[in-house]
Amino acid sequence: MKNYCSYKDLYVALKSNKTSCVQQTTLYLKKIKKQKNLNAFIEVFEKTALETSKKVDEKIKKGTQGKLAGMVVAIKDNICYKGHKISASSKILEGFESIYSATVIEKLLKEDAIIIGRLNCDEFAMGSANENSIYGPVLNPHNKRKVAGGSSGGSAVAVAAGLCLVALGSDTGGSIRQPASFCGVVGLKPTYSRVSRHGLIAYASSFDQIGPLTNNIDDAGLVLEVISGKDDFDSTVSNSPIGSYNEYNYKNTPKKIAYIEETLSHKLLNKEVKEMFLKKIKSLEKKGHVISPISFPYLDYLVPTYYVLTTAEASSNLSRYDGVRYGYRSEASSDLQDMYFRTRTEGFGEEVKRRIMLGTFVLSAGYNDEYFTKAQKIRRLIYDKTIQIFNDFDFLISPTSPHTAFDVGVKYNDPIKMYLEDVFTVQANLSGNPAVSIPIGLDSKNLPVGIHIMSNHFNEYNLLYFSKKLSNQ
Ligand code: GLN
Repeated sequence: MKNYCSYKDLYVALKSNKTSCVQQTTLYLKKIKKQKNLNAFIEVFEKTALETSKKVDEKIKKGTQGKLAGMVVAIKDNICYKGHKISASSKILEGFESIYSATVIEKLLKEDAIIIGRLNCDEFAMGSANENSIYGPVLNPHNKRKVAGGSSGGSAVAVAAGLCLVALGSDTGGSIRQPASFCGVVGLKPTYSRVSRHGLIAYASSFDQIGPLTNNIDDAGLVLEVISGKDDFDSTVSNSPIGSYNEYNYKNTPKKIAYIEETLSHKLLNKEVKEMFLKKIKSLEKKGHVISPISFPYLDYLVPTYYVLTTAEASSNLSRYDGVRYGYRSEASSDLQDMYFRTRTEGFGEEVKRRIMLGTFVLSAGYNDEYFTKAQKIRRLIYDKTIQIFNDFDFLISPTSPHTAFDVGVKYNDPIKMYLEDVFTVQANLSGNPAVSIPIGLDSKNLPVGIHIMSNHFNEYNLLYFSKKLSNQ
């Protein structure tokens, strides 16, 4: 008995009785136990996963199963699943249990997916290495001395190590795509407003999107089809229907592809990653696509703009954790004010506190115009310029990360270095465009390298089908 690496193969096996959902789930449960040292799972939902598996097996027998019947999915620990614990890898949510399910979870369950557990991540999704977690770092299965990437490190590792078929992550500045790149899996950030954020623990609400991490592009497309769409609980979600992934009419014509010239001369870009990226460009040209270098004057402004705006939003979003309504409360306090103070001091980790303070500062009277309002204006310029690129080109490509996975601990005490990890991924969040990271091979140290492809808003299927051609899947 084996676990299948694509939903297509799994579906055939389930329909022809070669395997069952219970068997698939049981096998994953065993593997999760065996690979505990990777630290990907915070909690396994063994009981509910097996119960759902049994029910879905019955449905398959009757032929009444949903689109994702038997797909075993693990979820980042910032997505609510009713009756199950959730912590955003933070002490401040210790013991908290979701009282409702996120819309994405409702949609997955409706199509008979099986939710197997919750995954380690950076605290409140803040980080690029999955080291800011109360549960400790997640280790990269390609080399356990290396980080998994972040903040959805647990999601990338769970898929890469075969501990589930699909994982959900969230992406505010690269948190799906960068760990996907470090672990050699596919990671898709949908267009902002494509997928409901209802039931996602907010980090920066005008940036956050939920998306899939998968072994292959088709699985990402299939999951996107199910989780996207209008939601009464999130008024920012677009009404425009996404349609069927399998029936999408992809036009296999030569594409116009741009890359930002300054990306290739960026001082952080590793030589081998650059070479592999250039090789990919050559092979695209050989296939008849037209690749053009373009100039993007705001490259150096992307990371600062992102960190001013996201910390501002985070400082507001995280004000709700006060010891009254959720999870942890300090016992040692003398009065209400002191209780707030101690709860937040003890409950939040260093990085989260740093961002709350930074965000409060950039929003404060006297500095608001200088930082927050200015960053909003720069975001607009970045947005306009990005839209302009897609008036002329089908896709914008770059390496996903300037380098491959780095050693655990090396950047932990240097926040600026850690923030610069996001240099190639934050543009898509600032402008709301969809973007995907797909693996393009291993470097000389046997670590995965990812390529980053971005497209126009609401153009995910085109993006995914093109990515398939690019990776020869
Ligand atoms: N690394 C980025 C940050 O720390 C991205 C996080 C994310 O996308 N959630 O903010």
